[in-house]
Amino acid sequence: MKELRDAILKQGFGIGHDIVKVDMFLNHRLDIALLTNIGQAFQEAFAGQQVDMILTIEASGIAAAITTAQAFGNLPVIFAKKSKTTSTINRDVYEAKVFSFTHNTENYIRIAKSYLPANANVLIIDDFLANGEAAEGLAEIVRQAGANVVGIGVCIEKGFQAGGQKLRNEGYRVVSLATVTGIENGKLMLAEEKTDA
Ligand code: 5GP
Repeated sequence: MKELRDAILKQGFGIGHDIVKVDMFLNHRLDIALLTNIGQAFQEAFAGQQVDMILTIEASGIAAAITTAQAFGNLPVIFAKKSKTTSTINRDVYEAKVFSFTHNTENYIRIAKSYLPANANVLIIDDFLANGEAAEGLAEIVRQAGANVVGIGVCIEKGFQAGGQKLRNEGYRVVSLATVTGIENGKLMLAEEKTDA
């Protein structure tokens, strides 16, 4: 997606060799015009499929999840909540363990069972795809519910980390709107624009 690639090149930067910072439009300050077009791009990418709800993870996936839900005609958005501990008392939740790449911590993510019905067609949306932990955790929760993952849409895929390949090998349809291939002295390298997103 050209508009997103341009924003990454103009307003994003890298830290070290593996952290991408896009706080100017995606992770702190939100560029609503860009996010609206991101939602539209995900809707076009998954237009041929039945999508009943959008699933994401708090906090930074929520903005793109909302604009995607709007592009599909105001679908419900569910966001998984993060917690440091497992829920031993609450049996009304689905839960999965997720290792956070950016914070180097292990979290549990949780969704109330009542919001994720069996057989629902779920589109997973997130801001970044790195090692695929967040997406795998969300997909695991969809599996626990007996629902169906339609696909996984990420704004920015870090092509130099293994998540994208892993998820595709597992058979998920993964659509990324921009792919960062590397970081050189703080400068972000991007893959050529794909024709399918
Ligand atoms: P994964 O679970 O695929 O390893 O990492 C994806 C999650 O970690 C996303 O939800 C995103 O919030 C965060 N993340 C991973 N890498 C980066 C990064 O380079 N920059 C930012 N801002 N977030 C990242």
